[in-house]
Amino acid sequence: MSKVYDVFVVGGGINGCGVARDAAGRGYSVGLAEMNDLGSGTSSWSTKLIHGGLRYLEHYEFRLVREALIEREVLLRMAPHIIRPMRFVLPYHKGMRPAWLLRLGLFLYDHLGGRKLLPGTRVLNLTSDPAGEVLRNQFTKAFEYSDCIVNDARLVVLNAMDARNKGAEIFTRTKLISARKSADGWALRLQASETGTIREVAAKLIVNAGGPWVDEILRAAAGENKAANVRLVQGSHIVIRRKFDHPKAYFFQNSDERIFFAIPYEQDYTLIGTTDRDFEGDPSNASIAEDEISYLCDGASQYFKDPVTRGDIVWTFSGVRPLYDDGASKAQEATRDYVLRTDGSGDARVINIFGGKITTYRRLAEALLAKVEDAIGLRGSPWTMNSALPGGEFAVDEYEDVLSTISASYPFLDVTNCERLVRAYGLKCREILAGAKSFEDMGEHFGHGLTAAEVRYLISQEWAWTSADVLWRRSKLGIRFTQEQTGRLETYMREYKQVQNLAAE
Ligand code: FAD
Repeated sequence: MSKVYDVFVVGGGINGCGVARDAAGRGYSVGLAEMNDLGSGTSSWSTKLIHGGLRYLEHYEFRLVREALIEREVLLRMAPHIIRPMRFVLPYHKGMRPAWLLRLGLFLYDHLGGRKLLPGTRVLNLTSDPAGEVLRNQFTKAFEYSDCIVNDARLVVLNAMDARNKGAEIFTRTKLISARKSADGWALRLQASETGTIREVAAKLIVNAGGPWVDEILRAAAGENKAANVRLVQGSHIVIRRKFDHPKAYFFQNSDERIFFAIPYEQDYTLIGTTDRDFEGDPSNASIAEDEISYLCDGASQYFKDPVTRGDIVWTFSGVRPLYDDGASKAQEATRDYVLRTDGSGDARVINIFGGKITTYRRLAEALLAKVEDAIGLRGSPWTMNSALPGGEFAVDEYEDVLSTISASYPFLDVTNCERLVRAYGLKCREILAGAKSFEDMGEHFGHGLTAAEVRYLISQEWAWTSADVLWRRSKLGIRFTQEQTGRLETYMREYKQVQNLAAE
């Protein structure tokens, strides 16, 4: 055990990868262990919004909303390939929140966060606007405002890649099983999930970014026996075939005072969610309950002319929010803000992350790095504010130019596939396409544009190890793939890893 990391991050979700990137960029030596695939915890099951959180204004979470509103444009600039602006249509519903309250909330929303790129709120006449066509006739007026949409799982991986570019060592499928105090600070035992091999590493400081497992890590690894710090709240989504043709999303209010979204998803689908219910059990096993399906179908059917039925559902997914337990009585009222807590003393400290949003991960990392400085001394200063994530080294308004340049350079790509590649990899799609003169040059085609060249890139550059990593996190092609196509992909990945002599850690 020769190397001593300054910072060892446990958990490869958005918070862990964001902290690893920031810390590595400041010159700390950084290790990160993720027990499964990067982003396989809560971070890939979100509603995919980079948003201020209009609803949190009702809970007076002004600090969170302001920080998140500012972050929208910071993140949009950092990753204009995987994040894009979206307009949200909020129909005025008689009997729910009064129009003056919506106006006030949206006024604050427009002005709290120093908006520069995103357009402000406007009023829509739903009897003439295309957004009204699919809605029931009772909805005649709406407010339209801005937020952004993100490819959440790819945001995680891009942060991990940039952390690696800056010297961090990332161990995927590697679980922290224990941590004990040592002369250097901490001695950590890591176990490779596939082979069971044990690796020991030393670190001055641990960052516990375990998301829903944060308490488990505290208990099992650091011997903490305090009562639970985290409130686990499940949220589920349904995905149906595309319900409307325009590019805007809907923000719907429900009679229980909750709100939910209907968002254009992966070109051909509509994503509807989410729910809020307290969760017990293993967060890896969260799945949608019957009453959540009814809740979302019934809620959406109050708004759409054509009801949403169970028969329309093509996929569902559920995630568990690791919220800080602030004692709120209802799951929906528990704070979405993050709390950082340093435990331990002297040379062996652990900084625990509770709660937080994808939207605020970069600010969370900055706040956490201030605590790292206090614990082990200063290295570098904040740098991520004006940085670019891999592939996103272009301005927000240059997206169409990037798309047309790639399309012109590789004319054999069809429009859908070209856009898919640019949206996923930005400028880095050239690394996948390098040298190809025809589609056949990209090797075996597994379906829906996924080729051997892309799979090789994902294995060699993005830690993809299984077909689920490729189909459900690095891309969302899983929603379209048949069993046979998945089988072919699995065979290819197995053979490629053998030929390359790649073994699980
Ligand atoms: P996670 O992503 O869960 O990462 C923790 C990681 O730690 C996991 O990958 C896990 O495998 C790993 N791990 C655990 N134990 C160990 C161990 N012993 N060793 C090694 N690794 C370990 N936020 C937004 O900003 N916008 C949204 O639209 C939004 N929608 C949401 C919708 C839903 C339904 C949910 C549930 C959340 C939503 N959020 C949203 C919140 C956001 O998704 C989460 O706050 C965020 O993803 C939490 O990230 P994390 O890194 O803390 O946790």
